[in-house]
Amino acid sequence: MAKKGAPERIHLGSRDEVVLSGTTICPGIGMGQARVLDRGIAIPRSQITPDQVQSEQRLYNKAVKLVSDHLYEHIQEDHADSFLSALSILKNHQAMLTDEQFHEAVRSRIAAESKSAAWALELEAQKIITNLEASRSPYLKSRAEDVKDLVVSITNALSSAPQAYTKALRHKKESEVLISGTLYPSWTIEAKQFCSVAFATESNALSSHAAILLKGFGIPAVGGVKGLRERVADGDEVIVDAVNGVVIVRPRPETTERFAAVKQQFELPEELLPLPPLGGRTKDNIPIRLMANIDNPDQVQLMHRNRLEGIGLFRSEFLILRSSSFPTEKEQYDIYRHVFTAAGRRVVVRTFDIGGDKQIADLYECTGQNPALGVRGVRRHLLRHREELRIQIRAILCAAQGCHVDILLPMVTTADDIQQVKYLLEEVKKELREESTPFSGEVRLGAMIEIPAAAIGISEILAEVDFVNVGTNDLLQYFVAADRDNEAVLGYEDFENKAFLWLLRFILERAAELGQGNEVTICGEIASNPQLVPLLLGLGFRSLSITPTSAQTVRNAIAETDLSAQSISRGFVKIGE
Ligand code: PEP
Ligand code: MG
Repeated sequence: MAKKGAPERIHLGSRDEVVLSGTTICPGIGMGQARVLDRGIAIPRSQITPDQVQSEQRLYNKAVKLVSDHLYEHIQEDHADSFLSALSILKNHQAMLTDEQFHEAVRSRIAAESKSAAWALELEAQKIITNLEASRSPYLKSRAEDVKDLVVSITNALSSAPQAYTKALRHKKESEVLISGTLYPSWTIEAKQFCSVAFATESNALSSHAAILLKGFGIPAVGGVKGLRERVADGDEVIVDAVNGVVIVRPRPETTERFAAVKQQFELPEELLPLPPLGGRTKDNIPIRLMANIDNPDQVQLMHRNRLEGIGLFRSEFLILRSSSFPTEKEQYDIYRHVFTAAGRRVVVRTFDIGGDKQIADLYECTGQNPALGVRGVRRHLLRHREELRIQIRAILCAAQGCHVDILLPMVTTADDIQQVKYLLEEVKKELREESTPFSGEVRLGAMIEIPAAAIGISEILAEVDFVNVGTNDLLQYFVAADRDNEAVLGYEDFENKAFLWLLRFILERAAELGQGNEVTICGEIASNPQLVPLLLGLGFRSLSITPTSAQTVRNAIAETDLSAQSISRGFVKIGE
C-alpha cells in the first residue's frame, strides 16, 4: 500500500534510461522530477450516514474556502502585474469558486443522497462539464477544463488537513518537470505558478494558445512526445532538452552530468555571451529580418535581450485580459506609449483580435454555431464594435508620435474590409486635427494574411495596405479546415503540406511582382521552428517575426542555411508544379 499522501508509484516496466523525441515548443534545458498531470484522480465515493451530513457539508465549505484563499493570495501576490492572460484564467477559477448556487447544489446532494462531499462534488460538476463539452464554442469547451481543474483542487483539499494542503502546494515549488497528455492553458499556468523547470507533453498542439503561453513564460518545453505518459511515473528524473526537442527519462548518471554542463552553457549570464548581430544572416550572407511576437508590454525587453529588430506582432488583445472591461483610450495610450518608447524600434500593433478561441470571460459573446468562422478580428469591429476600433486607433496614433509604429488588422478577408478601416482611420485623423490633438501621421496600415481568400487575393489586399503579415497558425487551420486546438485533427496541421507551401509561395510571388516583396513578414509559430526555417527561407521569406525565446535557435538555423545551394533553391521552385 502506498503511504497516505505520498504519490502512488506506477510500475512502468524497464527502469532504464529512455530517450523520446518530440518538437521544441520553448527552447532551453530543464532537469528535475516528473509530476504527471493526470485529470483522473481517484474520487473517494462513499455513502455517509444521516448524522454525518452536517459535518460533511462543513468539510466541503472548508475545502472550498481553502482553495479560494490560496487562489486569492496567488492572484494578489504572484500575478498582480504579471502575464495578463494567466491572470484572466485565474480569475475564471475564482469566479467559479464563488458560485454559491453551485455549492448549494453540492450541499443538497450530500444531504439528499447521503453521498460524501467529494462524490457529490464530482456528480454536480459532471453535469456542468458535460454541457460545456457538448458546446461547439472552443471558449466554452475550454471552460470545462477549468471546472475539472477545480474539482481536482477541491478534492485534494477535502482529502488533506488545511496545513497539509497549503504545504503540498508550497512543496510543489521544487525543481519539477510537468508531464501531460494534452496541453491546456491552465496547466501551462500551473507550470508558471509552481516554478516548474520544464514541461513535456504528448500534445501536438504546438501553435495553440496554450503553447504560446508556455513560450511567453520562457519555460523549456517539448511537445509531440509519443508514449510519454506510459514511460514516466511521478518522481522519475527527467531531462527536457528543448534545444534538440528530446525528453530523457531516468537518465544515467553520465547523461545527467553531460546535460548539467550543457545547461550551464545555455544559461550563461547575458554579459558573458558574445552579442549576436541584430537579426540574422544566412551562410551565404543574405540578411534576414528577425522581429519579435509579443503578448504583453513586459516582453519588450525580450526583444532587446534577443537582439531582434523590432516587434513584428504585438497581440494587443491580451491587454483586455487585464481587466473585465476594455481599457479606456487614456489607459491604452499609456500602455502603447510605454511599448513604443521602450522598444525604440519598429512596433507593429495588431488591433484586438477577439473572437473564435480568443474569448474574454466577462465579455463573452455568442458568435454563432462556429465561432472560428464567425465574428472575429476585424469582422467583429466592422460588424459590431466600430467604436472600440475607433478608440484603439486614436490611442495608437497619439502614442506613436516620434516612434516607428504600424497598425495591423487581424482576420482580413477582402480588400473591402481594409477600405472600411481606412475610411475610419481618415475620420479619426480628421477628428484629431479638429481637436488639435497631436498624433503621428506616419503610421502605416497592414493586414494579417490568415484566411485563404486573403492569401489568394493578395494582389488586391496589397493594393490597399503597406505591408502584410502571414499568420500561418490560422492560415493553415482555415486552409485544411482543421481546428488548430482540436487534438483529433492535428494530423492535418502539417506545415509541409505541398498545397500549403504552394500558397505561401504564391503570396511571395504576387508581392514580388508588385514590388512589395520586402513588405511580407511571416509571423505564425512556423517561423519560430528552427527545423522549418530553412524551408521558409527557401520559399523566399526574408522577414520573420518570432517568439523571442526562440531567437537563438532560429538564428542558428538561418546561419546554417545556404540559399545559393542547389538543393534549397531548386527543391522549392518545384512545389506545386
Ligand atoms: C497566426 O494566426 O498565425 C497568428 C500569428 O495569430 P494568432 O496566433 O494570434 O491567431
Ligand atoms: Mg491568427
